[in-house]
Amino acid sequence: MTAAAPTLVWFRQDLRLADNPALHAAAEGPMLAVYVLDDAAHRHGGANRWWLHHSLAALAKALEARGAALHLLHGDAVAEIPKLAKAIGAQSVQAGRLYAPWARARDAAVAEALEAEGRKLVLHTSSVLLEPDRLRTGQGKPYAVYTPFARAIMAMGEPPPAIPAPGKLAGVKPPKGGVSLGSLKLLPHKPEPDWAAAFPAMWTPGEDAAQARLAEFAGEDAADYADGRNTPGIDGTSRLSPRLHWGELSPRQVWHAVAGHGQDGGRQTWLKEILWREFSYHTLWHRPQLPDKPLRAEFEQFGWQPDAKLLAAWQRGQTGYPIVDAGMRQLWKHGWMHNRVRMITGSFLVKHLLQPWQDGAAWFLDTLVDGDLASNSQNWQWVSGCGVDAAPYFRIFNPILQGQKFDADGAYVRDFVPELAQLPDKWLHQPWAAPEAVLRGAGVTLGQTYPKPVVDHAGARARALAAFADLRSGR
Ligand code: FAD
Repeated sequence: MTAAAPTLVWFRQDLRLADNPALHAAAEGPMLAVYVLDDAAHRHGGANRWWLHHSLAALAKALEARGAALHLLHGDAVAEIPKLAKAIGAQSVQAGRLYAPWARARDAAVAEALEAEGRKLVLHTSSVLLEPDRLRTGQGKPYAVYTPFARAIMAMGEPPPAIPAPGKLAGVKPPKGGVSLGSLKLLPHKPEPDWAAAFPAMWTPGEDAAQARLAEFAGEDAADYADGRNTPGIDGTSRLSPRLHWGELSPRQVWHAVAGHGQDGGRQTWLKEILWREFSYHTLWHRPQLPDKPLRAEFEQFGWQPDAKLLAAWQRGQTGYPIVDAGMRQLWKHGWMHNRVRMITGSFLVKHLLQPWQDGAAWFLDTLVDGDLASNSQNWQWVSGCGVDAAPYFRIFNPILQGQKFDADGAYVRDFVPELAQLPDKWLHQPWAAPEAVLRGAGVTLGQTYPKPVVDHAGARARALAAFADLRSGR
């Protein structure tokens, strides 16, 4: 009797053992797990790379405990995967499907190279509930509006149950040529500043921590989600986004964990957010220009006014608008920003400052631990009014009112903009309007301890509306 050929499991954005169909397909026989860092095909943003480092470490440990190694490679996956498959005599390579244009092109090339030698690449549905191709409107088109899309998914009923993690694995010895995790240089390294210094207190990457957070959120916090999700100063949301991005959890596990506690108002609302993520993947798959070009083509003529100084003030949280600055500083400090504040800071960049949305999207992708091409691009186009089912451009968030409404007690601004902490609530979201004595009493000197506003709200609003009117009239 000849021994069964090993299977190669190629981990990408499914860094988990449970509910991992690619691993499941290989778990019965000899197998080798591999991760390839392929910077030439796609360079992950800095905060994404920090997460990836720790998540790979956790995955390697979990695989090892079951008898398998995680083989790490650094290079061109189109060359490395077929070479590795050949070296271990694998008949097939199993992986979770990816949806970004760069990944689709790479998978097609890997599949072709494998086929040329009689092997195959098998892609599984792993990071979405439903393959984007499986859902179409009555006219056979991709969905362009969220509500009917979400309704169509809900009408399909519960997703199939999640697959349990495998027990023992029959890992084969990796061939020579593997690299160490440290050599991938995923963490900040000199001469860079250690911009991730505050991340470890905030995040514990890895499947076990992801499962623990999911259980905690689904069991308790989700019930209050409908009320708590708009207050950035409290822990009202799940913070599962980096875990979903890297696939430490599958959306199917998340669905069952939440639905298993009953579908009260909070949990219903939360599941709808998971469907926004799904809608982003649907859009990216069917409209691969999403990351680069406005889906409403007329916006290609929009009168952006690129300005490096304004962009830098926004990136550094130095715009003089406290809610905007708090958001941008939370992003830098923790690699994450509350959704309400993502909308406010995004709107401020494209409307108040007239900077191209692509610049904001690029900054978010570099600094968010959950930076995700589908969700990030879709949301930036939503904020800018140029995507599918987007907020209309002329609806301009007022950063003062947004701050007063959603950070009424100032907890969020005081946390991330400590130089304003002593200001009374009344002036916290508009320090430039405070009487001189109040500023002095709070130790604030505008232009010195905290910036003066980089633009005047009313003037900036009028300028944005004029730019939009020009676009509509074709001027
Ligand atoms: P929760 O409120 O607990 O929601 C649960 C999950 O639903 C999230 O983890 C996420 O996977 C999904 N989700 C929630 N809201 C959205 C949404 N609007 N669109 C798509 N999925 C959603 N999310 C990312 O995961 N990656 C990004 O790069 C990203 N960029 C964004 C850029 C902008 C300008 C805006 C306005 C939003 C962006 N979002 C992005 C969506 C959203 O802000 C985050 O998913 C959410 O804040 C993550 O926190 P949470 O896990 O606590 O979310």
